[in-house]
Amino acid sequence: MPMVQITIDPEKCDGCGICVGVCHKGQRIFKIEKVGNKNVCLVQDTSYCYGCTTCVSKCPKKAINLVRTDKKIRRILTQSHRATLPFVSPCLGVREQ
Ligand code: SF4
Ligand code: SF4
Repeated sequence: MPMVQITIDPEKCDGCGICVGVCHKGQRIFKIEKVGNKNVCLVQDTSYCYGCTTCVSKCPKKAINLVRTDKKIRRILTQSHRATLPFVSPCLGVREQ
């Protein structure tokens, strides 16, 4: 398993749950909770994440940042970064540069 850090911007997230649904381990990694007067997605355990970046690409609010911490050069995978990359594999994440 790759080591990852996942952060979710609570200002952008509306708690839609898409990230939970598209991830094979979504129920273990994420949880939707009411915070204040809105639902937001919280990260509860990243140890199940294998870094596929599907949740990042499927989040309609572009709220998820995923950082691989097992690489010598850290990669910050946001949708804005992904849009500028020539190729992103849904299985392998961002290719080596
Ligand atoms: S898909 Fe994005 S907006 Fe929806 S719950 Fe997950 S992080 Fe929040
Ligand atoms: S990167 Fe892949 S395995 Fe990790 S939380 Fe997102 S969808 Fe799940």
